[in-house]
Amino acid sequence: DTGLMWFRRDLRAHDNAALYHALRSCRRVWCAFVFDTAILQPLLDRGLRADRRVEFILAALEDLDAQLHALGRSFGTDDVRLIVRHGAAVEEIPRLAAQLGAQAVWANHDDDPYALTRDARVLGALAHQGAVLHTFKDHVIFERREVLSSLGRPFTVFTPYKNAWLRTLGPFYLKPYPVERFGAALAPVPAECATPLPTLADLGFETTNLRQLPMCTGSSGARAMWEDFLTRIERYHQTRDYPGIKGPSYLSAHLRFGTLSIRELAAAAHALHARGQAGGSAWLNELIWRDFYHQILANFPHVVGHAFKPEYDRIRWERGQQADERFAAWCAGQTGYPLVDAAMRQLNQTGYMHNRLRMVTASFLTKDLGLDWRLGEQYFADHLLDFDLAANNGGWQWAASSGCDAQPYFRIFNPVAQSRKFDPHGKFIRRYVPELAALDDTAIHAPWEASLGALAAAGVTLGVTYPRPIVDHAEARQKTLERYAVVKAAN
Ligand code: FAD
Repeated sequence: DTGLMWFRRDLRAHDNAALYHALRSCRRVWCAFVFDTAILQPLLDRGLRADRRVEFILAALEDLDAQLHALGRSFGTDDVRLIVRHGAAVEEIPRLAAQLGAQAVWANHDDDPYALTRDARVLGALAHQGAVLHTFKDHVIFERREVLSSLGRPFTVFTPYKNAWLRTLGPFYLKPYPVERFGAALAPVPAECATPLPTLADLGFETTNLRQLPMCTGSSGARAMWEDFLTRIERYHQTRDYPGIKGPSYLSAHLRFGTLSIRELAAAAHALHARGQAGGSAWLNELIWRDFYHQILANFPHVVGHAFKPEYDRIRWERGQQADERFAAWCAGQTGYPLVDAAMRQLNQTGYMHNRLRMVTASFLTKDLGLDWRLGEQYFADHLLDFDLAANNGGWQWAASSGCDAQPYFRIFNPVAQSRKFDPHGKFIRRYVPELAALDDTAIHAPWEASLGALAAAGVTLGVTYPRPIVDHAEARQKTLERYAVVKAAN
């Protein structure tokens, strides 16, 4: 009847499935988080020392520690603290459970392939010492094989999945777990286990610009951002596609790390949907996409590293020096296509990229530059604050046309047309590509089409102050159709 709550992508002390079950079932519960070297060391080995996620997690842990402390106190227990370890999670968790005398470890599901392997190893190690691992759904509304087709198979097309998702949904699935009622079981941390929160430097990382960004951290910051979004959600369906407007919720990193509860968000969106509010319905739709890609990853784990549709692995992507140079230009936001460049610079400078632009840049990488979608997927994985394997892989395979329910391969975004449509006055471009800011609303989308006089008046010298386009879109489009012909031949 003693338990260890192991936090992972659920960094909150309210409406948390595993924490609720642990507190209800055990007489004494301790809480822990592990900075897992199996995840962090590969980043450090690749020289990625400035990672906003590590800083974001540290801030969330500080907040979580304060919440647990306050909850313990409200039941008269002092010294309730979050125990934070730095090491291999597969060793740290069983060791800590043994040290505390915990008979069970409690955690929420994580269906990333690495996490599944890790959890299986932890379960084995715990079994060795006579302890158990209990895990729960918490990160999504429906997971794994909960929503299936009438043939009992996982859905691979979004719209029927969404319809089934909505049919299956009942109040039970949106109900919060009332953690706060069971705080009496939170146990004080023994002196030998109490260590201060590590610093970024202790973990081997450097400070980033996270604190300068309009991103609030921890679950209290998440709540403030959620409340702000609720004042705008009504217009979401009209504003969500325009990167120059504050349209979307910017909550993805909070959903990724669980500083907000998906049940609370989905319940609010569903209530608006039920009342016929278009903004609420459109936003609920996105939350359903999130569940959709999570169940794709859980049911079709081959998508990690491989095309969902195997015939797409026959495509021969560009390789060699020119391909490497083009990839470097894409990463740096120096392709000569202003919207693409503004988007990549937004990612590099803030760790966020607008959804429309994720589609545009992913399409540009695969269908204008002819580069393997896995390169872009990895770059996003390294730089997105909200990086989530299921959503990122789903988004990249959608853009590359290799995914389930993907964009057909012959549908190729025109980066200039996208720019004119979704950033008509160049507001977003001007923010991230300031060297083009003085161009007028027409020229800013395709500076190479502007007259020399207009360029000179705006202080732009193509090839000097801003690159010429690294590919010609019309030619690239033709090449892409040829490249993807192997797919058609396979069908
Ligand atoms: P909002 O528009 O406010 O949406 C609300 C929430 O719904 C998001 O926070 C997110 O959790 C979810 N969501 C929205 N769109 C999608 C989608 N298409 N698929 C799955 N979930 C969605 N999202 C990530 O969370 N992590 C990623 O690593 C990621 N990589 C992507 C890569 C590509 C190439 C593409 C095309 C999309 C990717 N997305 C990813 C989906 C989407 O772009 C982001 O979720 C969204 O831009 C986050 O901003 P927001 O919170 O303001 O979104």
